[in-house]
Amino acid sequence: MRLDVVSLAPEAFAPLQGLGVIGRAFAAGRAALHVHNPRDFAPDRYRKVDDEPYGGGAGMVLKPEPVYAAVESIPVLTRRRVLLMSPQGTPLEQADLRRWAADYDQLIFLCGHYEGFDERIRALADEEVSIGDFVLTGGELPAMTIINGVVRLLPGTVGTEACLEEESHSALLLEHPHYTRPADFRGMTVPDVLRSGDHGAIARWRSQQQQERTQRRRPDLYARWRVQQQQQ
Ligand code: SAH
Repeated sequence: MRLDVVSLAPEAFAPLQGLGVIGRAFAAGRAALHVHNPRDFAPDRYRKVDDEPYGGGAGMVLKPEPVYAAVESIPVLTRRRVLLMSPQGTPLEQADLRRWAADYDQLIFLCGHYEGFDERIRALADEEVSIGDFVLTGGELPAMTIINGVVRLLPGTVGTEACLEEESHSALLLEHPHYTRPADFRGMTVPDVLRSGDHGAIARWRSQQQQERTQRRRPDLYARWRVQQQQQ
């Protein structure tokens, strides 16, 4: 998977390379990261990338020319997707990460800055993505969030397929609780069923825990899961 990031803060992405399993995926060549700074493509000699908004108002706006030039300098693979980081985008879900990991060889991330970007930059994007209903100062952390979530789904990065299938959000339900030794830690004990060796009972307990947890913590997801169950 080739990952291209267009960002005014390229140094922000260095820590990804040292991030445990994600870092190892880069080292093993399962993913390659290239960062492009619009400032290197600014047409004027002051390397200006932002400007005042037409019509006035607070803040500076990212200019279109350097961003277009940066994107146009990126090699084009056939299965590519351009994602624009924006609090106005579609809220990110695990299903999006799965889709991008499975369907594309190249993901391009456009990171905004300042007050935002010139509206015409939107035309470069196939999708606009928000990582939640809050506002950050730039698209770097959102892009890194998505890169982390996509790279961990690439075959060979994280444990087994089964790990990825059981985890929270892969099938609308949250994951069941986990315990390891000791069986009694400061009076907090491991449920007997997990120590019973009865695999059928353990599977039933986990499934029931998943449903209860999801209903309690995320009634929205639980409602969607119920609808999905009824349709099956
Ligand atoms: N004034 C803009 C927000 C600008 S925040 C507005 O109201 O839409 C600056 C940049 O940070 C954005 O262009 C975007 O790239 C990034 N960003 C901020 N919050 C984000 C979020 N929740 N999800 C994705 N990107 C975000």
